[in-house]
Amino acid sequence: MTTSPDLLAPRPTHAADLRTGPGASAFPVRIDRLGGTGALLLSGPSATDGSEGLVGHATRWGPLPAHDGARVRTLLRDSRLDGRGGAGFPVARKVETALLAPGRPVLIVNASESEPASRKDRTLCRHRPHLVLDGASLLARALGADEVVLHSHRIGGSPSGPLSLAIVERVRAGLEDPAWHLSEGPDRYVAGESSAVASFVDGGEARPRFTTRPLAVDGPSGRPTVVSNAETVVQLAVAARIGAVAWNSLGAPSSPGPRLVTLAGAVPRPGLVLELTGPGTIGDLLTAEGLGAPPAAVLVGGFAGTWVRGDEAWQTPFSRESLQCVGASPGCGLLGVLPHDACPLVETARIVRYLAGESAGQCGSCVAGLPRLAGAMDALAAGTARRRGLARMDALADTVLGSGACAHPDGVVLLVRSALRVFRDDVVRHLAGGPCRAADHPPVLPVPDARPTPTTGGDAWR
Ligand code: SF4
Repeated sequence: MTTSPDLLAPRPTHAADLRTGPGASAFPVRIDRLGGTGALLLSGPSATDGSEGLVGHATRWGPLPAHDGARVRTLLRDSRLDGRGGAGFPVARKVETALLAPGRPVLIVNASESEPASRKDRTLCRHRPHLVLDGASLLARALGADEVVLHSHRIGGSPSGPLSLAIVERVRAGLEDPAWHLSEGPDRYVAGESSAVASFVDGGEARPRFTTRPLAVDGPSGRPTVVSNAETVVQLAVAARIGAVAWNSLGAPSSPGPRLVTLAGAVPRPGLVLELTGPGTIGDLLTAEGLGAPPAAVLVGGFAGTWVRGDEAWQTPFSRESLQCVGASPGCGLLGVLPHDACPLVETARIVRYLAGESAGQCGSCVAGLPRLAGAMDALAAGTARRRGLARMDALADTVLGSGACAHPDGVVLLVRSALRVFRDDVVRHLAGGPCRAADHPPVLPVPDARPTPTTGGDAWR
C-alpha cells in the first residue's frame, strides 16, 4: 500500500481534485492490488486463491442489501456512479432514460473487455464473480428487468467459466436473482462496443450499429437496452454495501468512487490491476508498482487513448477532470508506460496498424482511412515520411474524424494526434531522414498482431 502525504498540497492545474476543505476527498490516497488490505473492490483472497466462492463472499460482504428498484436508482443518483467501460456516462441517467422508453428494459453486463492490454474486468469476473453478479442483480432491480445477459469474448480463460460456477452456487443457495444468461461473442476490438454487443446478444452480428437513437431508448430488439461493463456493476455492489456518500468520497471530487487501473508496458508486472482510492496521481500508481521516476510517456485510457509526457502524467491525478487538463480521460483505466529508451513513434505505429485491422468494415472512411493512417504512421516510424506527407496525414485525420458509425476511427485519430503533439522532437528527427536509435527496441506495449488491411505501405507519405 502506498500513501502520499504531499497530495493535499495545492497544485495549480488540478486544483479541483487536490483541494483541501469542503468538497475535498475525505480519504487519503490508497493503492492496492487483489487481496491487499488497502483494497476495497479487490479486497479478499489473493490472486493465487482463484475465484472467491459464495460462502467467502457472503462472509466478507454480508447478504446483498434488499433494496427495491427505487432505492437502487436513488443510490445511483446519490453516488454519481459513472460507467467504467470507457465513455464514463452517468449510470443513473442511462437507467432513467431506459425507464422512460416503451418496453421492458434489457440489461447486458459487458465483460468482453476488448482492450487488449486491459485486465480489470476479467480480474473481477475471475476472482470476484459474486460481486459482479450482486451488482448486476441490483442494476436489474433498478430497471425492473427480470433477466440479465452476461456477455464476454470467446477467448481462452473466458470470464464465462467463473461466472457460470458462481451462478450455480447462487441458484443452489436460493438467492433471489434475475434469470442469468451467458453470452460469448467474437474476440474483436469493436465487437466489445456497446451497440455491437447488444446486436450480437439479439442474434445479429457483433458490429456497431448505425443510428442516432441511444440503446437505452431503442435497442436492437426494439426494447430499451442498458449495457454496463463489469467494473461498473461491481462498483454498484460495493456502493450498496457502504452507502452512496461513503462510496462517493473514495474518489477525487470530480471522479466519484474508487477506480481500477491496469498497468502495461515498462512496469515490473505488466497486466497488474491496481485499485485507487482518493485523489492519487499517475505517479502514485506507478510508484506503488516500483517506478522511482517518471517514464518517457504514459498512454492513458487505452490503445485509442492519449499519450501524455511522463513528467506531466506523474503529477496528474487519475480522475476525469484532472486528466482532461492534459487532454486525456480515464477510458478503460489503462496506463501504458513507455521507457526512455523506446521509440514512441514505433509503438504508436504498431497500435495504429492493429486498430486499423480491427475496423468492423462497414463505414467507408474507417475502412479506407484507417489503413492509410496506419501507413502514414509506419512511414513516420521508419523514417521514410516527409514533411508534406505529414500535412496530408493531418488532412486525412480530419476526414476520418467523426465519420464512422462508432467512435473507433475517432479514437485512432486521437492517438495519432497525441503522438504527434507529445513526441514532436521525435517526429522532427524521423522526418530528417532515418529511424531514431531506439527503433530497434523490443516492443513495449502488448499489441496483438494486426489483421491484414487493404493498404500496407507508406509510400504515399513521402
Ligand atoms: S466506424 Fe469503423 S469500426 Fe465503427 S462501425 Fe464503422 S467501420 Fe465499424
